[in-house]
Amino acid sequence: MEQQASFSRREFLAKTSCFGSYYALASLIPLPALAAELSVDSRISQTPLVDKGFASVRQVGNGLYATISDPSKGYVTVCNGGFLVGKDAALLIEGYTTATGASFQMDALRMVSQVPVKSALDTHYHFDHSMGNSFYGASGIPLMAHATAAKRIVDSYSPLQGADKEAVVGPLEKRIKDAKSDAERAHLQTDLNAVTGLFQIANSSILGLPNRPLDPAKFPMSIDLGGLTAVLESLPGHSGTDVIVKVPAQNVIYAGDLLFSGWYPVCFDEKATISGWRETLKKFAAFDKDTLFVPGHGQLCGQECIATLREVFDDIAGQAEKMFKAGVPVDEAQHRYAVPDRFKNFPVYAWGFTIGPAITKLYAEWQHK
Ligand SMILES: [Zn+2]
Repeated sequence: MEQQASFSRREFLAKTSCFGSYYALASLIPLPALAAELSVDSRISQTPLVDKGFASVRQVGNGLYATISDPSKGYVTVCNGGFLVGKDAALLIEGYTTATGASFQMDALRMVSQVPVKSALDTHYHFDHSMGNSFYGASGIPLMAHATAAKRIVDSYSPLQGADKEAVVGPLEKRIKDAKSDAERAHLQTDLNAVTGLFQIANSSILGLPNRPLDPAKFPMSIDLGGLTAVLESLPGHSGTDVIVKVPAQNVIYAGDLLFSGWYPVCFDEKATISGWRETLKKFAAFDKDTLFVPGHGQLCGQECIATLREVFDDIAGQAEKMFKAGVPVDEAQHRYAVPDRFKNFPVYAWGFTIGPAITKLYAEWQHK
């Protein structure tokens, strides 16, 4: 039987039906403590600069800060990000789920430096990284993102604004009613929670679009902040719009959602590619052994979480391949994956956003071979 984080399905459903939707979903995703090996890493400050529950900001290098969200304590930020502070300028990473979240990070920057903000960056277009973008617009801060991110924000989220909730969630509710198995029904219920949350967030946000599109042909791109150089690079995997921020001199990487630390990866995007993502993780694994990663979700980590995420993909692909070879139809296969014991505490944000599409995409890759 599948597990949702460390909760049984019955507990999960009981909780979600009490509170309905995203807030219950988020409450199942507590942030683990910093790993023991990182608590002795001299780059990382053991005391956060600021901790608001929903997120804390911690120094992770010389002029480098990570904003780490704890979704179980509120949905102001939801994703992770951070900021880089040079002698001349600063770079802010992520637009977060709400303008309040982006503003919180700006306030944290101002606790340590008054340098002008050169720009903010959305690592990709997804709502939890971009619905707070309007803060940057209101603050006169330029906002960079992959060249296709602005269009994808408009295409994905403007149809939800002012929409009738039933029109958005109705088709999913019908699929839950028509589910062919208990597993499928439980999985669809997690999707309903996620879509309801997305609907609520997109509806309560004023969309802000990146106004500094980054031409994919121009990566890697260096940004000089004064004694601190960041390198932006675009890599395939999660959304087709993913940009990472590397600080090569300090072996620190802001990986966006190309890295889920201790989570099942979110693979639903039409531009997500499983083989591409696994290649990207192979690249990450080849970075220096002391590389510190700021993941898009989950706790700060070193190379061990790259190895773990690669194992998660290997496990999904291994189980899917057996079913593919045995002729199990894809619609059935995507609900048959069994979470192994070693990953049973990994949050599954929603089945149809993580494991389900990973399997359907793998099937598609194999069918086209
Ligand atoms: Zn994402």
